[in-house]
Amino acid sequence: MKIAVLGGGPGGYEAAIAAAKKGAEVVLIEKDKVGGTCLNRGCIPTKALLASYEVYETAEEAADFGINISGDITVDYAAIIARKNKVSSSLVKGIHYLLEKNGVQYLNGFGTMLDKNTIEVVKEDGTKETVTVDYTILATGSVPICPGMFHYDGKRVITSDEILDMTECPKSVILVGGGVIGCEIGQFLAKMGTEMTIVEMLPQILPTMDEDVAKQLARQFKKEKIKMITGDGIAEVTVKDASVAVKLQSGKELEADYLLVAIGRMPFTKGAGLEAAGVELTERGRVKVNEYLQTTADNIYAIGDIIDSAMLAHVASKEGLIAVSNIIDGAKEKPTYHAVPGCVYTNPEVASVGATEAELTKKGIHYHTGTFDFKGLGKAQASGKIAGFVKVIADDNDVIVGASIVGAHATDMLQVLTMATQLKMTAKEVGDCIFPHPTMSEAIMEALHDLHGQSIHKA
Ligand code: FAD
Repeated sequence: MKIAVLGGGPGGYEAAIAAAKKGAEVVLIEKDKVGGTCLNRGCIPTKALLASYEVYETAEEAADFGINISGDITVDYAAIIARKNKVSSSLVKGIHYLLEKNGVQYLNGFGTMLDKNTIEVVKEDGTKETVTVDYTILATGSVPICPGMFHYDGKRVITSDEILDMTECPKSVILVGGGVIGCEIGQFLAKMGTEMTIVEMLPQILPTMDEDVAKQLARQFKKEKIKMITGDGIAEVTVKDASVAVKLQSGKELEADYLLVAIGRMPFTKGAGLEAAGVELTERGRVKVNEYLQTTADNIYAIGDIIDSAMLAHVASKEGLIAVSNIIDGAKEKPTYHAVPGCVYTNPEVASVGATEAELTKKGIHYHTGTFDFKGLGKAQASGKIAGFVKVIADDNDVIVGASIVGAHATDMLQVLTMATQLKMTAKEVGDCIFPHPTMSEAIMEALHDLHGQSIHKA
C-alpha cells in the first residue's frame, strides 16, 4: 500500500511516520519545512520566546528569593530570536532523522493532486516529480486571516508569521485579537519593552475561555502595563511611512509602529488540486470529512487545521494517527472532541478542557463547580507562585465535564483533568486518588473535594 501525505506539519509528519511504522510505503510532500506552522511559525517559536520572558521575570524576582543579581537586567532581542530559531531548527532536524529512520520518502516541493491517485510535486528548482499512490492524507494546514481592510503589507501591518522573525523589538504595537496567539505574543513583547495595546472585539480577552480565568490574566496584563481595549473593533486602518494609524468602531484613535493582526487562521488548500481529486469543501471553507476523517474522495483523508475541528497541533496529530489506522487497519476509528485540552502559555498560564460554565448555561445544562486558589497550597507559597486557581465542573451525576486552571504550570497539570473528562470519570473517583505533596496539582484535588464541600484547605 502506498500513501502520500500532503503537508509536513504536526498532523502530516506524524501520520507519515505512523503509516511507515505500520508497514506502508510512504511519501511525505512538504513545500516549506517539516514541522509546519507548529515548529516553524507557531507553538514552538512562541514558547521559546516565552521562555525568555520567564527568565527575565525570574531575574527580576530573584531578590525576593534571597538571590542577588548585580547590575541592570537588559534584553538582547536579536539573541532571543536567534535562540528561538535554533530551537526550531534543531527540532526540524530531529523530524528529518525520524522520517529517514522510518523509511519515509521526503519530497520537498509543492504538491498538487491531478486526480485521486496522482500528485504532481514541483520542487524549488522547478523540476517536477509525479507520484502515484493508493491513498492520500491531506494535511496542508492554515494561514493567518487578514481581511483587506487591514491593508496587510508584511511590513507595518503584520501577522504572527512576521513578528516572530523580527530581530529588533518593536517600540509600539497595536495587536488586534485577544485570543491565544495575541495574548502570548502580546505579553512577550510587552515584557521586552514594546508599548502594547490589545484590541479585542468581544467583551474579554481569551473570549472562548472561562470568564474568571480571563479576568485573572487581564489583571496580570494590567500590572505589566499592557493596554486592553475590549468590546471594540477596528473600523479603519491607515498605513503611514513609519507607523500605522487605526480608528476603532467606538471612534477612538490609536497609532503605533506596527499593527499586528491576530484574529484567527484559515485553512490553506490553495493549489492542492482538491477539485481534480473530487475533494469537497464545507460551507465554512474547510475540507469536508465524514466521522472517519475520509473526504468526499474515498481514498483521500484530511486532518488538522484544514478540517472543522479545533486548530491545535495535538488535535492535528491525533487525527493523523486515526486516519492512518482507518486506512491501514480498516479500524473505523472516530475522533472524539469533548475533551480537547486548550493551553495558553502566558504568565500566568491558562489551561482548559471540556465545557465552560458559560457554554453549559447556554445549553441549559445544570452543573456544579469546585474551586481552589493556589495561595492555599504549600508548594505555591514555597515557590512564590500563588496567583491563580483550579475550577472543576461536574454534572448532576458528579461526572467531570470541564475544567480550567490558571496559574504556574497550568498547562502541564491539565492532563489529569483531560483524562478525567475524556473518560467521563466522576469527581469522587479522581478526588479519591492520592496526589503527591507538596505539588501544585494538589489544587486539582482540593477543587475536586470542594465540589462535595470537603476541601480541607479552603475556608
Ligand atoms: P500546519 O502545521 O500548518 O502544516 C501544514 C504544512 O503543509 C505546512 O508546512 C505547509 O507548508 C504545507 N503545505 C501546504 N500546502 C502544501 C502543498 N500543496 N504541498 C506541500 N506542502 C504543503 N497549537 C497548539 O496546539 N499549541 C500551541 O501552543 C500553538 N501555538 C501556536 C502559536 C502560533 C503563533 C500559531 C500561528 C499557531 C499555534 N498553534 C498552536 C496552532 C498549530 O500550529 C496548528 O494547529 C498546527 O500546526 C496545525 O497542524 P497541521 O499539520 O494541520 O498544519
